[in-house]
Amino acid sequence: MKYIKMAVKNVIPKKYYTLVRSIYSSIKYFGLRFKCPCCGGNFRKFLSCGIKLRRNALCPRCGSLERHRLLYLYLKDKTNFFSEQLRVFDIAPMYFFAKKM
Ligand SMILES: [Zn+2]
Repeated sequence: MKYIKMAVKNVIPKKYYTLVRSIYSSIKYFGLRFKCPCCGGNFRKFLSCGIKLRRNALCPRCGSLERHRLLYLYLKDKTNFFSEQLRVFDIAPMYFFAKKM
């Protein structure tokens, strides 16, 4: 499997690899048990992540962690962050936030 991933990574242009990986993960982990608020994907599980592994922590499509999903829900439900045009200085933008902004 490792060699197949390496071969696919070498064949697909770098700018499309993230998109292809996202689609592949969405299909592989599709289910109705978990819904990621950041990307809107439905999954049968989230991936484990962390030095001390946390189960169901990482979204297979967008890579968001628990804290990212919590921050997204807070900004969406409790602030005007996504409804008004604001100026934001983000030092280390998260992938899915950068796409939504
Ligand atoms: Zn997600």
